[in-house]
Amino acid sequence: MTDSSGLPRRSFLGIAAGTAAALLAPRAARAADAPSAPAASAAGDAGPVVYDNWPGKEAWEQLRHAVGNRLMKPTQPWARLKPGRIPKRLFNPWYLEEQPGATQSTGMYKAWSSTASEYAVAAERGEDIVAAVDFARKNRVRVVVKGTGHDYYGRSCGPRKSLLIWTHNMRSITIHKSFVPQGAPAGTPPVHAVTTTAGNRWLEAYTRASQSGLYVQGGGCTSVGACGGFALGGGFGSFSKRFGSGAAGVLEITVVLASGKIVVANAYQHADLFWAMRGGGGGTFGVVTHMTLLAHKEPSISGWIGGPITAKSDDAFRELIQRYVEFAGNTLSDPTWGEGVILNTDYGMADTFDRGLNVMQVGTTFLDITTDAARSVWEEFLAPLRSRPEDYTVNVDFSSQPFRNRWHPTTKEAIFDDRRNAPMGYFWWKGNASEVAAYWGAYDGRGVPWSMTQGSKARTLAQGLFDASRTSLILWQTNKALYGEHPEAKERDLTTSINPAVFDNVAFITVGAWKQGKYPGIAGHEPVKAESQAQFDGVMSASAHVHRVTPGGGSYSNEGNYFQDNWQQEFWGSNYARLLKIKQKYDPTNMFTVHKGVGSEGW
Ligand SMILES: Cc1cc2nc3c(=O)[nH]c(=O)nc-3n(C[C@H](O)[C@H](O)[C@H](O)COP(=O)(O)OP(=O)(O)OC[C@H]3O[C@@H](n4cnc5c(N)ncnc54)[C@H](O)[C@@H]3O)c2cc1C
Repeated sequence: MTDSSGLPRRSFLGIAAGTAAALLAPRAARAADAPSAPAASAAGDAGPVVYDNWPGKEAWEQLRHAVGNRLMKPTQPWARLKPGRIPKRLFNPWYLEEQPGATQSTGMYKAWSSTASEYAVAAERGEDIVAAVDFARKNRVRVVVKGTGHDYYGRSCGPRKSLLIWTHNMRSITIHKSFVPQGAPAGTPPVHAVTTTAGNRWLEAYTRASQSGLYVQGGGCTSVGACGGFALGGGFGSFSKRFGSGAAGVLEITVVLASGKIVVANAYQHADLFWAMRGGGGGTFGVVTHMTLLAHKEPSISGWIGGPITAKSDDAFRELIQRYVEFAGNTLSDPTWGEGVILNTDYGMADTFDRGLNVMQVGTTFLDITTDAARSVWEEFLAPLRSRPEDYTVNVDFSSQPFRNRWHPTTKEAIFDDRRNAPMGYFWWKGNASEVAAYWGAYDGRGVPWSMTQGSKARTLAQGLFDASRTSLILWQTNKALYGEHPEAKERDLTTSINPAVFDNVAFITVGAWKQGKYPGIAGHEPVKAESQAQFDGVMSASAHVHRVTPGGGSYSNEGNYFQDNWQQEFWGSNYARLLKIKQKYDPTNMFTVHKGVGSEGW
């Protein structure tokens, strides 16, 4: 994964069950408060409710009637692929999002494969969602919620015997010049805000906000949802050190609960649910129809520092990593900077790891300072490297533009949706392109405590990253960790349920490997097991090294390990016990259950 300007952005992770899992996921203090959570029966006495029933045709026809004929049978757009060429549209994220039977990733080795639900409600209004939820509850049918299908764990697709609530067609955006949450006491100061609906994507929110001189804090990838799993799970974009997490920006949420009731949650009403839904994870507490986001005055300058630094020996590369982590800890942890560096980019789609590339690819954003100012800050890091041409080749460039131009990029940075009927101006960053239709060998994400960049610990951290870089791409992003966050943003972040470890972390590391255009179950396009296994082994080995040097760093439920052990603690830390109580209050029968989501223990 990459970010807004071409920096591969993502993480990866997964550990397999058993030995690899133990390696990768050292058991930090097991969540003392991570009770198992069997779903209560609706009556409260007849054992857990199981959502695996499948009613007859008549019931489905009643649902069709209730949702104004918006009940459909999704199919996978790659289901009829013949061996050979893959059509270009299957690498277009906007096309995939228009398909109720598609997801952005096609699966993950040993973990999941993209599957289309047998039925989908193509919701257009909150009432459609209420009808679908009522149907699922009464008939005990497994329900799945999908906005964009970006989830790395496949939590927005299948199984086949399930009812999908597909929100793609709910796409309207409202700009507010003076928004006050419902139920707020008289005198509450109004703020600028943007209301998104469940099918909106970040590009739509950014461009509409920008037309009013505003900015909302979303993700780097333009096609991730602006009213779904991103903010519900936390959500970090390039400028999160300045504006906070996606969750921190949410002012109000309208949600259909498992009971079928629609409620508006904010700081003044259903405050417990509001807290839980800002970080506690998508597909867990209900189905969101609207989210209102705090809008900021649009920044003026968006800058980019990019290019490779190549080390000419292993020792020089180890030293380079140490110099960088010290620089990141001491200088890049303030709100000016975002994104970071990638070690060995070419390992992302490799299936053999025998070279030790020794390349650090810089891909860092800066905000509201001039290019010269950014260059002068970076001299501290770059000048000593340039002065040693026998050890390093430095090809790092600095550039900047008016911030609003981000949403009107050139073909150098972005790929435009050029389908005949495509909406004008829809694009995705080149850095995200290789992730469309990705089949993951493995993936893991891990926070890095700031303290590991200080004193002698920086050497230990650098050694761990060097060891990890022998078998995997390593993505280091400072914007997915909140140490050094702007105080005003921190105040908001502290009111969310995101993992508290993030406040002590200087960066978030992703390790991962994938193949593009592999489709499990489709003859001629199947993932090659040996390649996936090699990717898996490489990532697992790297991940174990990263875990070894990041004690207490925790992880992030949207970008963690599918096989994460002790996930309650690793994803939510001390917030888990409270999250579970709120889950049990609002969804006592666990109608909304997702892989490694709050309350999914007994699943
Ligand atoms: C290419 C790529 C780039 C990414 N970049 C970033 C990034 O920069 N920063 C970051 O923090 N994360 C990033 N992510 C991870 C992303 O935050 C998660 O995948 C997120 O869950 C996506 O949410 P979605 O609604 O778009 O996707 P979906 O797959 O549709 O949904 C994800 C989860 O949310 C649930 N959900 C969706 N809509 C609703 C709703 N209306 N109500 C309730 N639950 C809902 C689904 O059931 C599912 O569990 C990226 C992922 C990809 C594939």
